[in-house]
Amino acid sequence: MSYQAEYIWIDGTKPTPIMRNKTKILKDGQEPPIWGFDGSSTNQAPGNSSDCVLRPVFTTPDPIRKGDNILVLCEVELPDFTPHPTNTRVACVETAERYASFEPLFGIEQEYTFMQNGRPLGWPDNGFPAPQGPYYCGVGGEKMVGREIVEAHTIACMEAGLSIEGTNAEVLMGQWEFQIGVLPAPAIGDQLWMARWLLNRIAEDYGVSVSLDPKPVAGDWNGAGAHTNFSTNAMRESYDAIIEGCEALGKNANEHIANYGAGIESRLTGAHETARYDTFSYGVSDRGASVRIPWAVEKAGKGYLEDRRPNANMDPYVVSRLMIETICSYSEK
Ligand code: ADP
Ligand code: MN
Ligand code: MN
Ligand code: MN
Ligand code: MN
Repeated sequence: MSYQAEYIWIDGTKPTPIMRNKTKILKDGQEPPIWGFDGSSTNQAPGNSSDCVLRPVFTTPDPIRKGDNILVLCEVELPDFTPHPTNTRVACVETAERYASFEPLFGIEQEYTFMQNGRPLGWPDNGFPAPQGPYYCGVGGEKMVGREIVEAHTIACMEAGLSIEGTNAEVLMGQWEFQIGVLPAPAIGDQLWMARWLLNRIAEDYGVSVSLDPKPVAGDWNGAGAHTNFSTNAMRESYDAIIEGCEALGKNANEHIANYGAGIESRLTGAHETARYDTFSYGVSDRGASVRIPWAVEKAGKGYLEDRRPNANMDPYVVSRLMIETICSYSEK
């Protein structure tokens, strides 16, 4: 017999890459090999030299096709097997290896908005739904939309063996969140990208699309973020190390903001539970700070910090690499 391997990769669309996928039929017992694709159709190569290479890096059971079928997340390489310029995973792996003695761990809260006909799912064709308030962690017909997709996605993540931790409805009608963690880099990025792919693929069956737009509706409506929770072994033992991590992030704020997802200024306005993109602050329980120390962490005197700045459309390979670099290099000084 044979089975299906869904090859998945991150393309070169600017400013925010999207995911691509294609199917390879493999013989029973055959490992997924290196494969290729037409990079001229994904903003990854010119037409006269279009071949790009897919190198499998993370494989899971396929919860959609089930059986022996698999999902295969890939890195993109040039034909000479060097990393493609759009490949952000390689640098993440290098940084994770350099600072492995710090044992950095991540949990990411991925927010997203279901869309249909160019509007958030469930929104009226003209005008707006009832104002924000009842939707966050809400229950009840008419006001809650998309829950069947959320359920199917959660089960799919579990069946794929991903470390999904939970889900909740968000503040904007049609917006939801799932969390993945606690994981080291690059696994946090591999699993988040795989979970994003599953969400897009499952929503497709409902005629719905998934937007990671950081500000899907302008005005008095919440944006979509990807709070990134971080700890080192020292932070998991001491409060001082958490404060030092916050100080380190403050010293390198501009580089982080520039790499935390396109359109970050539209979301980090200082309103809607954000700190302005051009300021840096940290505080206990403060949802208006750039970086928050959860109250339970302060109480325990150890744990982790929450970087609230990353956009929903951020690249977790980039964000995890930067957080490790900034915090661990500061603590080495
Ligand atoms: P909130 O919505 O209150 O910000 P969530 O429950 O959505 O909190 O997310 C908390 C996140 O913190 C989870 O993704 C979890 O994995 C992460 N986390 C918990 N402990 C640690 C830790 N020691 N290091 C890194 N991340 C952690
Ligand atoms: Mn072809
Ligand atoms: Mn959350
Ligand atoms: Mn949230
Ligand atoms: Mn959060």
